[in-house]
Amino acid sequence: MLKLVNIRRKFVSGKQQKLQVLDGINLEIDSGDLISVVGKSGAGKSTLLNIISMLDNQYEGEYFFDDLNIKKMNEKKRFGFRVSNIGYVFQSSNLINEYTVFENVEMPLGYKNVSKKDRRKLVKKVLDDVGLKDKLKNYPVELSGGEQQRVAIARALITKPRLLVADEPTGNLDSKTGKQIMDLICSVRDSGTSVCIVTHDTDISKRTEKIFQLSDGILNEQE
Ligand code: ADP
Ligand code: MG
Repeated sequence: MLKLVNIRRKFVSGKQQKLQVLDGINLEIDSGDLISVVGKSGAGKSTLLNIISMLDNQYEGEYFFDDLNIKKMNEKKRFGFRVSNIGYVFQSSNLINEYTVFENVEMPLGYKNVSKKDRRKLVKKVLDDVGLKDKLKNYPVELSGGEQQRVAIARALITKPRLLVADEPTGNLDSKTGKQIMDLICSVRDSGTSVCIVTHDTDISKRTEKIFQLSDGILNEQE
């Protein structure tokens, strides 16, 4: 489904100091894969995830999704492609506090041509899937951390993405709630969506089928 070929990413600081964060990443993700990328804080995990999720385009190397060259797409096309294919869950749920749960989850559909009636149906279904159908009128502050993360997952899934990426999705949660969120994320894969989780937590990575270690800018699959 997607393929990264020799991806390199550097940051240049004010004093022209160069930091080569990714130094030749090769990675393939197929339909239905459940993988994790592990590495220490600062190893470049979020940098890599931002490239995979098409938020960052300032890299060297090639990125193919369905054999389409992502870097060569114009901004508008890439945006549409990302909205259609990729769901992103962050460490903090990044919900909009002024919006209800329903409105937060509905938001990505704003970029798609879906009737109001169908939207309601889709939002209700996905909130039911994450166990929150009673909370659709609540605001994020009225929810626990785990519930907020469920809303964020529902929002990422509303467009039926082919790839769900999650950056330290349980980092702000206690271990019991974190486990429930991991159960939910892993279950997404059962519907055919590929899942890529970035974490520094080996309890999380061991639940995935392939584990890639990121260090010194390089990815190595763990045996
Ligand atoms: P991780 O997610 O593994 O903790 P990151 O990908 O966030 O690591 O960061 C990797 C390195 O790149 C860090 O040293 C970080 O300071 C640096 N970095 C990340 N984003 C930027 C940026 N936009 N500008 C400059 N340096 C950055
Ligand atoms: Mg990070």
